[in-house]
Amino acid sequence: MKCGFCGYEFDESEGGKGCGGCHGGCHGVHCPRCHYKNPLEPGLIKSLKKMLSIRDNDKGE
Ligand SMILES: [Zn+2]
Ligand SMILES: [Zn+2]
Repeated sequence: MKCGFCGYEFDESEGGKGCGGCHGGCHGVHCPRCHYKNPLEPGLIKSLKKMLSIRDNDKGE
């Protein structure tokens, strides 16, 4: 995934999950570079976005 703050690309498992420092529990992945908390994308939204982009490509032809 890509950090939404500094643009650094890292693996989700590489980032700090459940850091314990966030109020109300940690529900994001912290960038190993700047520690920005990136919101986790649920798998459903990910596949939905994929579907939409495929549709867009079909329209272009
Ligand atoms: Zn956290
Ligand atoms: Zn970052």
